[in-house]
Amino acid sequence: MPTPQHSGLGQPLDYRAPAPLPPGSLVRVPLGRRQVLGVVWETVTDSPDYPPEALKPVDSVLALAPLDAGWRALIRFAAAYYQRGLGEMAASALPGTLAQLDETQLARRLKRLPTEAGVGAVAAAPALQAGQQAAVERLSAQLHGQSPAQPVLLWGLTGSGKTEVYLHAAAQALALGRQVLVLVPEINLTPQLQARFAARFGAERVACLHSGLTPAQRLRDWLRAHSGQAELVLGTRLAVLASLPRLGLIVVDEEHDASFKAQDGARQSARDLAVWRAANLRIPIVLGSATPSLETWHNAQQGRYQRADLIERIGAAPLPKVRLVDLSNQPFPKGPGATPPPLVPQLLQAIEQRIARGEQSLLLLNRRGYAPVLHCGQCSWRSGCPHCSAWRVFHKSDRTLRCHHCGFTERVPTACPDCGNQDIAPIGRGTERLEEQLESLLPGARLARLDADTTKLAGSLEAQLARVHAGEVDVLVGTQMIAKGHDFRRVTLVAALNPDNLLYSSDFRAPERLFALLMQAGGRAGRAGALSEHPAEMWVQTHQPRHPLYQALQRHDFAAFAASQLEERQSAGLPPFAHLALLRADSRDEEGARDFLRAAAEAGRAVDPGEALFWYPPIPHPVPKVANQWRWQMLVECSQRAPLQRALAGWVPALHGLKRTHKSVTRWAIDVDPLAI
Ligand code: ADP
Ligand code: ZN
Ligand code: ZN
Repeated sequence: MPTPQHSGLGQPLDYRAPAPLPPGSLVRVPLGRRQVLGVVWETVTDSPDYPPEALKPVDSVLALAPLDAGWRALIRFAAAYYQRGLGEMAASALPGTLAQLDETQLARRLKRLPTEAGVGAVAAAPALQAGQQAAVERLSAQLHGQSPAQPVLLWGLTGSGKTEVYLHAAAQALALGRQVLVLVPEINLTPQLQARFAARFGAERVACLHSGLTPAQRLRDWLRAHSGQAELVLGTRLAVLASLPRLGLIVVDEEHDASFKAQDGARQSARDLAVWRAANLRIPIVLGSATPSLETWHNAQQGRYQRADLIERIGAAPLPKVRLVDLSNQPFPKGPGATPPPLVPQLLQAIEQRIARGEQSLLLLNRRGYAPVLHCGQCSWRSGCPHCSAWRVFHKSDRTLRCHHCGFTERVPTACPDCGNQDIAPIGRGTERLEEQLESLLPGARLARLDADTTKLAGSLEAQLARVHAGEVDVLVGTQMIAKGHDFRRVTLVAALNPDNLLYSSDFRAPERLFALLMQAGGRAGRAGALSEHPAEMWVQTHQPRHPLYQALQRHDFAAFAASQLEERQSAGLPPFAHLALLRADSRDEEGARDFLRAAAEAGRAVDPGEALFWYPPIPHPVPKVANQWRWQMLVECSQRAPLQRALAGWVPALHGLKRTHKSVTRWAIDVDPLAI
């Protein structure tokens, strides 16, 4: 008699079917009082362990091809690796609306798919340059089975022709009758890429999967991928779990980007799952980046991945000249409350020259809002959030104080809430204040701002970008949003105004991310090519111009930067030289989170008596309280993946048990391969 399992998201449940169903079949089954979508995981016939009268029957079988063995293996692996239920993993990969359609609706949707007319291919492929040719040949040899499948790191700057390599390799896969999966980090980048693939291959062959779609769109494109009708599937991280019965090639563009790692749910890395999926199917995968993640770079150094380098930027000017400005030598006002001007005089002058020549400048400031905190000089009151251990940010446009952690928003007080002082002042600078200061520093200049505040409304990002492309903007101010992917033709100056705060974060990946951000931002300059006879420039305002990171940036030397970082990581025993998992817990009171983790650590050591692992003591999260929840975390480390995986699998049941006895704990989660610790 099988033990019934009642966690619908855990292990498979048993049902009776009129006839054996092939594994992967999609079915509707009763669960409690509801009817839910199910995936047949395995079929058992005539077993004394499963008396038919003890099992509920399957309601109906969906008229769709079963999910294939490759997809099921991927889900099984992902669930096990990230310590989640099989059902939860499978459900996250399937469009929710699939369960709600009845037979006739489903049949109608499927019928509509081959009938949708496309515009057909219009763009011809350019002849490849030598570096591109070499990269395509490697992928081609793998596609044709002439060399064993092995990930290829395509290392090349923005504009070096990586996308063209993807397009050529995709053409070969399509010619073999295979499907191609292309992953990009951000929704914003999918329309650009979709347009390029559609122009080359015809829109009817392309499907898109990302979180910005309506449920109906997601269902349609999922069905097009699953039926094999869409041969090219472009998407963000959720697309890695799409059903692709003829998958022959995977592309991960900007593979280093943190967006590939989910920050909730199973916290899976789409990049890592893509690598696993390709290895399991023995198909090629290409990971593209100008600044690869240190994990990927290390894999290439070790010979586990192949590397193909694209040296030159095609049709573009050489790389921008990097100018490091030492802020400590500037004659700025000092003392409490004194906010130095946002730009050093030389930089201001350089921007004025650009404006006079009709060229554009990009200013990167990684902080939105007007000022990060308001301060009362009389009693030292600061604009803290009552629900979080964080300051509330002053937004001048709507005169609010907003918490960027929990969203708590109030009108800004006219006087100090504690002492009544009328003279409360903003400290520091965000993009909103920078824009205001530029209005007086650069009178008459046409300014625009790109950050989470100015792009909230649907279409506003596109509208702002269109203004920049049309040349209606002289200076664009923004957060890291401006560094990503946009092809700005007239930009000849990029400046990072205050990158040091990212350098000194407690997060061990902060330098890696900063280097990538600055390289990427620099890549926005000089795409203009022949537009200007003046070389493009990237300015960095810093207190640490001698820092190895900035020195490597000045030489555009990613390899040197990576080597120095890998050395540091090795001596500190950090990834990729160690494997980590992070247990986080939220609780209504601080002791609750702490005590839960202490008990968890004890339970952990009990499942790992061999001491292959290192169980760190629990510590508060860097922002310990958010929305009245106290957050604690603890790290588990191991030099090898397998013992860590085994220990985690043994640990999870104990954690479920502990949750029941620690009543104030509202949630807990394991983050395998966490990005930030
Ligand atoms: P990346 O993806 O590395 O940013 P792209 O593939 O977008 O680079 O190439 C940059 C620009 O150069 C694009 O406008 C592209 O059409 C063009 N390009 C790429 N490869 C070639 C080539 N072999 N011949 C001519 N133009 C090319
Ligand atoms: Zn006060
Ligand atoms: Zn808050």
